[in-house]
Amino acid sequence: MPHCLVTGGAGFIGSHLCEILLEDGHEVTALDNLSTGVRENLRNIESHDRFRFLAGSITDPVMLNEAVRGVDQIYHLAAAVGVRLVAEDPVRTIETNIYPTEVLLRLAVQGGQKFFLASTSEVYGKNEKDCWTEEDDLQFGATTRPRWAYGCSKAIDEFLALAYAKKYGLDIVIGRFFNVVGPRQVGNYGMVIPRFVDQALRGGPVEVYDDGGQERCFAHVREVATIVKDLMREPAASGEVYNIGSDQPISIRALAEAVVARVDADVPIDYIPYSKAYGDDFEDIRRRVPDIGKLESTLGRKPQMPLDQILDEIITSRRLMSGDQQP
Ligand code: UDP
Repeated sequence: MPHCLVTGGAGFIGSHLCEILLEDGHEVTALDNLSTGVRENLRNIESHDRFRFLAGSITDPVMLNEAVRGVDQIYHLAAAVGVRLVAEDPVRTIETNIYPTEVLLRLAVQGGQKFFLASTSEVYGKNEKDCWTEEDDLQFGATTRPRWAYGCSKAIDEFLALAYAKKYGLDIVIGRFFNVVGPRQVGNYGMVIPRFVDQALRGGPVEVYDDGGQERCFAHVREVATIVKDLMREPAASGEVYNIGSDQPISIRALAEAVVARVDADVPIDYIPYSKAYGDDFEDIRRRVPDIGKLESTLGRKPQMPLDQILDEIITSRRLMSGDQQP
């Protein structure tokens, strides 16, 4: 079984991917600087005999050199994530997301490793189409609005990966994640579901930004991580870009109502302007829905866990966490 390196392995998606790769019989090395990831996320696998944790940053080329040694596949998930973090620290976003990817791609060319690049639906920017396919245009806003630094930096990563594939024959797969959710996701960096759930569990108010008419599709992290693993095994996926997510949209207002209905119907819902949440230079994306036809035709399936079931699982896990148990 291949030995896999997962950068960002202690993060929300990374830790679930490590678990799935281990369940599949792989040897797994996780590299993480524990800036947004936490050791706690690895509690289930820390003592596994095929698992190794390296504490270090992808911005350190020496560390990257060490991390790729003896590895057959690289899953590059480490990045600056979350709308809140990106709005607050664009320098960190750009530095974490661009140069380290280039270094890793170079190492992968030297070492002959297969490479998964975790990208994001943010690369579509504010494209106003109802549903985005992989060949759609990337439409970013002005550079004075820091939000676009994130999508732009990941788009550069995609260009780099595709260029390395073309020029050096590097075997790559690119996955654009759309709103991935599930146990272990935290609300500190802006992610809406853990924020709503924690707010509701504290008695509210649940804070919806703007009018709540903006729409998103939420996919369960284990389904997403399994798809990533399977794409890396599928020869037809080599060199390709995939949207990965649910294609069932829900408005943020309806999401808030669904969370409140599950936790406590008396919890109030407040509507807050974006300027108060993220500052004056913030721009949101009104509707974000992937076309996942390409994923379906390659793997014969798509993420399909219903949101109700996802919310139940997250609420249970947040309740357990407040009782200090691992989800
Ligand atoms: N959102 C909200 N309240 C929050 C956090 C987010 O209403 O406390 C909204 C946010 O404005 C966005 C949606 O929920 O329209 C999803 O936000 P998230 O940051 O989770 O993901 P993204 O914006 O990257 O899709």
